[in-house]
Amino acid sequence: MNCFKHNDRVAVGICRSCAKGLCMECAAPLTNGLACKGSCEERVNLLNKMIDNNAKTLSAARYQTKSHAVITLIIGAMILVFGGILKSTAEAGQTMPLFFLCSAPVFIVLGILRLMKKSQYPAAEK
Ligand SMILES: [Zn+2]
Ligand SMILES: [Zn+2]
Repeated sequence: MNCFKHNDRVAVGICRSCAKGLCMECAAPLTNGLACKGSCEERVNLLNKMIDNNAKTLSAARYQTKSHAVITLIIGAMILVFGGILKSTAEAGQTMPLFFLCSAPVFIVLGILRLMKKSQYPAAEK
Protein backbone atom coordinates (compact mmCIF):
# COMPACT_ATOMS: atom_id res chain seq x y z
CA MET A 1 0.00 0.00 0.00
CA ASN A 2 1.20 3.49 -0.81
CA CYS A 3 0.53 6.83 0.88
CA PHE A 4 -2.87 8.31 0.07
CA LYS A 5 -1.33 11.73 -0.56
CA HIS A 6 2.06 10.69 -1.99
CA ASN A 7 1.34 7.88 -4.44
CA ASP A 8 5.03 7.11 -4.98
CA ARG A 9 5.81 6.52 -1.29
CA VAL A 10 5.22 3.30 0.58
CA ALA A 11 2.74 3.62 3.44
CA VAL A 12 4.10 2.93 6.94
CA GLY A 13 0.61 2.43 8.34
CA ILE A 14 -3.04 3.42 8.08
CA CYS A 15 -4.99 6.16 9.78
CA ARG A 16 -7.18 4.92 12.64
CA SER A 17 -9.92 7.32 11.66
CA CYS A 18 -10.19 7.33 7.85
CA ALA A 19 -8.16 4.14 7.15
CA LYS A 20 -6.05 5.79 4.42
CA GLY A 21 -2.44 4.72 3.87
CA LEU A 22 0.15 7.10 5.36
CA CYS A 23 3.84 7.66 4.60
CA MET A 24 6.34 8.78 7.27
CA GLU A 25 5.68 12.42 6.46
CA CYS A 26 1.87 12.19 6.62
CA ALA A 27 1.59 9.96 9.71
CA ALA A 28 1.12 11.41 13.18
CA PRO A 29 2.00 8.71 15.74
CA LEU A 30 -0.51 8.74 18.60
CA THR A 31 -0.91 6.61 21.72
CA ASN A 32 -2.61 3.73 19.92
CA GLY A 33 -1.79 3.96 16.24
CA LEU A 34 -1.45 6.52 13.49
CA ALA A 35 -3.53 9.45 12.28
CA CYS A 36 -3.37 11.76 9.28
CA LYS A 37 -1.14 14.61 10.37
CA GLY A 38 -3.17 17.80 10.72
CA SER A 39 -6.61 16.37 9.90
CA CYS A 40 -7.45 13.16 11.81
CA GLU A 41 -5.39 13.57 14.99
CA GLU A 42 -8.20 15.09 17.03
CA ARG A 43 -10.65 12.41 15.95
CA VAL A 44 -8.24 9.54 16.70
CA ASN A 45 -7.52 11.03 20.13
CA LEU A 46 -11.30 11.17 20.69
CA LEU A 47 -11.65 7.53 19.56
CA ASN A 48 -8.93 6.49 22.01
CA LYS A 49 -10.67 8.40 24.80
CA MET A 50 -14.01 6.78 23.94
CA ILE A 51 -12.48 3.30 24.01
CA ASP A 52 -10.88 4.01 27.41
CA ASN A 53 -14.16 5.37 28.80
CA ASN A 54 -16.06 2.37 27.45
CA ALA A 55 -13.64 0.02 29.16
CA LYS A 56 -14.23 1.83 32.47
CA THR A 57 -18.02 1.66 32.00
CA LEU A 58 -17.91 -2.06 31.22
CA SER A 59 -15.78 -2.72 34.27
CA ALA A 60 -18.26 -0.76 36.45
CA ALA A 61 -21.20 -2.67 34.92
CA ARG A 62 -19.54 -6.03 35.70
CA TYR A 63 -18.88 -4.91 39.26
CA GLN A 64 -22.51 -3.76 39.67
CA THR A 65 -23.89 -7.07 38.37
CA LYS A 66 -21.86 -8.93 40.98
CA SER A 67 -22.71 -6.55 43.81
CA HIS A 68 -26.43 -6.76 42.96
CA ALA A 69 -26.18 -10.54 43.19
CA VAL A 70 -24.57 -10.29 46.63
CA ILE A 71 -27.19 -7.76 47.81
CA THR A 72 -29.97 -10.08 46.58
CA LEU A 73 -28.41 -12.94 48.58
CA ILE A 74 -28.14 -10.75 51.68
CA ILE A 75 -31.80 -9.70 51.36
CA GLY A 76 -32.77 -13.38 51.00
CA ALA A 77 -30.77 -14.27 54.12
CA MET A 78 -32.31 -11.39 56.09
CA ILE A 79 -35.84 -12.43 55.09
CA LEU A 80 -35.01 -16.00 56.11
CA VAL A 81 -33.74 -14.87 59.54
CA PHE A 82 -36.69 -12.52 59.99
CA GLY A 83 -39.11 -15.30 59.02
CA GLY A 84 -37.39 -17.60 61.50
CA ILE A 85 -37.71 -15.06 64.32
CA LEU A 86 -41.36 -14.45 63.43
CA LYS A 87 -42.04 -18.18 63.39
CA SER A 88 -40.42 -18.70 66.80
CA THR A 89 -42.62 -16.01 68.35
CA ALA A 90 -45.79 -16.60 66.31
CA GLU A 91 -48.82 -18.34 67.63
CA ALA A 92 -50.07 -21.47 65.90
CA GLY A 93 -52.01 -20.82 62.73
CA GLN A 94 -50.31 -17.53 61.83
CA THR A 95 -49.30 -17.46 58.17
CA MET A 96 -47.00 -14.41 58.19
CA PRO A 97 -43.82 -16.38 59.10
CA LEU A 98 -44.60 -18.85 56.31
CA PHE A 99 -44.86 -16.00 53.83
CA PHE A 100 -41.34 -14.86 54.75
CA LEU A 101 -39.90 -18.35 54.87
CA CYS A 102 -41.32 -19.11 51.42
CA SER A 103 -40.17 -15.89 49.78
CA ALA A 104 -36.58 -16.02 51.08
CA PRO A 105 -35.53 -18.90 48.75
CA VAL A 106 -36.69 -16.83 45.75
CA PHE A 107 -34.12 -14.13 46.58
CA ILE A 108 -31.44 -16.67 47.42
CA VAL A 109 -31.95 -18.60 44.16
CA LEU A 110 -32.02 -15.36 42.14
CA GLY A 111 -28.82 -14.18 43.83
CA ILE A 112 -27.04 -17.49 43.18
CA LEU A 113 -28.20 -17.56 39.54
CA ARG A 114 -26.99 -14.02 39.03
CA LEU A 115 -23.62 -14.83 40.62
CA MET A 116 -23.18 -17.91 38.42
CA LYS A 117 -24.26 -16.20 35.21
CA LYS A 118 -21.40 -15.34 32.89
CA SER A 119 -21.06 -11.56 32.63
CA GLN A 120 -22.83 -10.05 29.65
CA TYR A 121 -20.21 -7.33 29.59
CA PRO A 122 -16.92 -8.34 27.95
CA ALA A 123 -13.72 -7.84 29.90
CA ALA A 124 -11.77 -4.80 28.75
CA GLU A 125 -8.33 -5.34 27.29
CA LYS A 126 -5.40 -4.95 29.70
ZN1 LIG B 1 -7.10 10.05 8.50
ZN1 LIG C 1 2.35 10.92 2.50
